[in-house]
Amino acid sequence: MHRRITRRDFLNGVALAVGGTAFLPNWGAALRGTDAGTSLAAVQPTGRSVYPPALTGLRGSHAGSFEAFHALKDGTFWDTAGSIVSTRETYDLAVVGGGISGLAAAYYYRKAVGKRARIIVLDNHDDFGGHAKRNEFTANGRMYLGFGGTQSIDSPAPYSPVAKALIAELGIDVSRRAQVLDANLYTGLGLRRAFFFDKETFGVDRLVGGYSHQLADAFLDAAPLSEAVKRDVRRLLTDQWDPMPDLSSADRKVQLARMSYAHFLTHVWHLDAGVLPLFETRTHGLFGVGIDAVPAQDAWGLGFPGFQGMHLDPGAGPGQNRDAIRHPEAEDYFFHFPDGNASVARLLVRRLIPGAIPGSTMDDVVTAQANYAWLDMKGSPVRIRLNSTVVRVQHDGPAASARGVEVVYVRGGTLHRVWARTAVLACWHSVIPYLCPDLPAHQQAALAYAVKVPLVYTNVLIRQWTAFQHLGVRASVSPGLWHTSVRLEAPVSLGSYRSSRSPTEPIVLHLSKTPCKPGLEARAQHRAGRVELLSTSFETIERHIREQLARMVGDGGFDPADDILAITVNRWPHGYAYQYNSLSDPFWLKGGEPPCVVARQRVGRIAIANTDAAAYAYTDAAIDQAHRAVHEILDLR
Ligand SMILES: Cc1cc2nc3c(=O)[nH]c(=O)nc-3n(C[C@H](O)[C@H](O)[C@H](O)COP(=O)(O)OP(=O)(O)OC[C@H]3O[C@@H](n4cnc5c(N)ncnc54)[C@H](O)[C@@H]3O)c2cc1C
Repeated sequence: MHRRITRRDFLNGVALAVGGTAFLPNWGAALRGTDAGTSLAAVQPTGRSVYPPALTGLRGSHAGSFEAFHALKDGTFWDTAGSIVSTRETYDLAVVGGGISGLAAAYYYRKAVGKRARIIVLDNHDDFGGHAKRNEFTANGRMYLGFGGTQSIDSPAPYSPVAKALIAELGIDVSRRAQVLDANLYTGLGLRRAFFFDKETFGVDRLVGGYSHQLADAFLDAAPLSEAVKRDVRRLLTDQWDPMPDLSSADRKVQLARMSYAHFLTHVWHLDAGVLPLFETRTHGLFGVGIDAVPAQDAWGLGFPGFQGMHLDPGAGPGQNRDAIRHPEAEDYFFHFPDGNASVARLLVRRLIPGAIPGSTMDDVVTAQANYAWLDMKGSPVRIRLNSTVVRVQHDGPAASARGVEVVYVRGGTLHRVWARTAVLACWHSVIPYLCPDLPAHQQAALAYAVKVPLVYTNVLIRQWTAFQHLGVRASVSPGLWHTSVRLEAPVSLGSYRSSRSPTEPIVLHLSKTPCKPGLEARAQHRAGRVELLSTSFETIERHIREQLARMVGDGGFDPADDILAITVNRWPHGYAYQYNSLSDPFWLKGGEPPCVVARQRVGRIAIANTDAAAYAYTDAAIDQAHRAVHEILDLR
């Protein structure tokens, strides 16, 4: 447990410092306080130059990507910023944010205006894709991929015709999902989902297999829970009890929309509080909070137990979160690339800058090595400029009569300026009031409402997965530990990429965490979680990972010091777009106009995209909002 893991940093015998992240001296303190000195060494597949997808350590919102913006937010940025250097570059369109929404905006603009349209995309990270990030590892000369954020083409509501058309234009055929996934690999080996009962919460460390939503008798029998808790769980699962017999289905839904699922369990069902940890983190992956902040109505929509005797009418109730009622048409529109929707971002970049990502198909993009030097080439009509934090976007006159927009960004410690006829802000909405201080106050307030959900997606390359095989486990939830879920990667093989097939081969483990503070209102939990993420070092997270894996699968023979080959922690203090919730957002329950509608209004030559513009944390929203924003500025022409 306590031996050093040298292979993490020196997998191929090459250790490099992160490049392209020079900082103004005044911001150095911010770095020292958080990430500086963490293991931001690079694992390079080629050993030639820094290749962002292959960097390990603390990624996602990595050191160098957020300090300028935090100084802007704290009001200290302009005191020390120095003078602005004009690049003398002019564009038809400047896009702030190189996530899927920003890349899609560039794509739609180019499609409408033609290949000579001059476009610049600016992003504060050292890699493009926003949340759709690729994690690339190499072991024994072979590539292993993981997704650092946006996981799959998947949405609880059907993709719009616009979003579907873009997916098709990129050459993605979602109907191939079953062909590329080896759905029987893990079940064929007898691997199941498990629940890790930790000694801090449950009195003893125990991994119990056979965990499912039904919480079958065999699972409960093996669980270290008191007889009272087991009795209550069985009652919750099977009793056909109706706690609101005098109300109509519609009125029951309103009642359920106004209470949390935790309250429903302990105050309506009057269950032992020991039941709660079994459900506590089940909602983390969707909402970024536990059942204390998730409305009971949403828990009903997701199929949680306790509603079977209530005979609620199917279909969404008032103020139901859009994640909580899955549309049947959405079921078949799913695709998972080994690097998640980073492949979608890479296919967009391939269309924007041919040659930057070699190849031509959805198959060959998986293993294609991007040529980062091509992203920002002089003379190219489309340029993607990374490590560039935009700090000001301002019309060159009154918004109604301006000829264009001045965009100021900081890169390598220096402020630069470009000019563009139009701009699309595809960045996070909470950032926009600081970039455009002249926006009307009500729009600024609406933009600031979008408090993003913090998340961590960690990928751990391990030497072999025999321990998982010995224990019969392919995934486990662990509500009491730092990462609340661990799973073997989805076995997807596409093009020349082959997923791990044998337990004696390396594999990527995917771990996730949703930092939150139960008891607070949802957006307050997200803010508190963000603070926790920004103040937790890589060393601390690494220690949690090693301890967690040792406790969970050590009995199967897993030795963290020997078996962990590399760790990439994708930290997203600003993760999912905030989706409205009937407990926290009264307007949502009453059916009023949501803030995102006010927030996304075009101002002069500046249009606004990003998933925040739809308050919907899915790739189809990123695409739809890009399409809308681009058409708003095309209408100006
Ligand atoms: C961990 C995680 C898992 C997810 N899984 C899924 C999934 O499986 N399926 C799905 O559909 N969706 C998923 N999502 C939602 C995801 O947010 C969207 O699908 C989509 O990738 C968002 O794209 P975007 O362009 O709107 O935003 P982003 O990806 O956030 O891109 C915005 C970019 O703007 C940059 N930016 C912000 N401020 C500035 C500035 N001042 N200057 C320059 N750049 C700036 C940001 O750093 C970022 O790179 C997931 C999100 C997270 C965090």
